[in-house]
Amino acid sequence: MTGPVLGVDVGGSKVLAVVLDDDGCVRLTRKRATGRGTDPDRLVRLVVTLLDEARGAGYACTAVGLGFPGLVDHAHGLVRSSVMLDGWCEVALTEELHSVTGIPCVLDNDVNVAALAELEARGSPPPSCMLMVAVGTGIGGAICLDGELFRGVSGVSGEIGNTTIDPSAEFCWCGRRGCLNVLASGSVIEELTPRLGREGAVTHAARALGVGIANAVQLLNPDLVVLGGGVLEIGDSFLAQVRETLAHEVFPEALAACRVERTVLGHAAAAIGAGRLAAQAGAGLQSSPDRSGTPGLTRPSRSLPRLPPLLPGRFT
Ligand SMILES: [Zn+2]
Repeated sequence: MTGPVLGVDVGGSKVLAVVLDDDGCVRLTRKRATGRGTDPDRLVRLVVTLLDEARGAGYACTAVGLGFPGLVDHAHGLVRSSVMLDGWCEVALTEELHSVTGIPCVLDNDVNVAALAELEARGSPPPSCMLMVAVGTGIGGAICLDGELFRGVSGVSGEIGNTTIDPSAEFCWCGRRGCLNVLASGSVIEELTPRLGREGAVTHAARALGVGIANAVQLLNPDLVVLGGGVLEIGDSFLAQVRETLAHEVFPEALAACRVERTVLGHAAAAIGAGRLAAQAGAGLQSSPDRSGTPGLTRPSRSLPRLPPLLPGRFT
């Protein structure tokens, strides 16, 4: 028994929070509109407010998990940078949250936690290789191998949104030209609609996304690609155009082995995944007398190391 936990999906334009009970069921959902100006202080205040609201509804949360849109050091609870939100560079987020809330706080990339929730929801056996791609204000990705998250050596794997599709295209928030982010995100569809019409903008984005996913499929040879994010609200035509592009760009051997599906958890995948991570952190706190090795778990007595930015000057 860990008690209820709060899972928070920090997005580029909104924050979605869920309270999970001991059985992992969603008991409460809250959504708040935010924006690029959601800096560390604002986010901490928002999480405190969400915890207060949960307590008022009868759920005194024992841990908080966050899915964050950026490069995250999960093991140290550190946000290294974000191209989606302003004011985030080497922020010891779980330490700051813990100092205010007094409960365990754990952090991971937003698509990573969404992928973990997606794996759990789909049950056994897990896919051999799952690529998750979330298309919202920006585009994020996560890779799971044999049911485990593959974070990469630096913990920043799966950044499909910042892979280059067209080097002659516009600059991305990350400082490079022609990333998938600036060709296929929900923001891009809105920007292109006045010029191309809604259908033209959607087609442009779906084809670019298809090329981006095709590159990843050629590289990974996955058996499952899961698409999530607000852009799927456009309807089946978007997914159909992504599949059509994949059929042109991917080896038939890879394509035949790969299912391309919508997320089974919908919008709530990242918030639920963050809640699952929080429950694990809370359980670890209760069961382990020595918590020094618990990934992402903040303890007030420990001074977290400040790591150098991955790419100095290129991320905001
Ligand atoms: Zn980029």
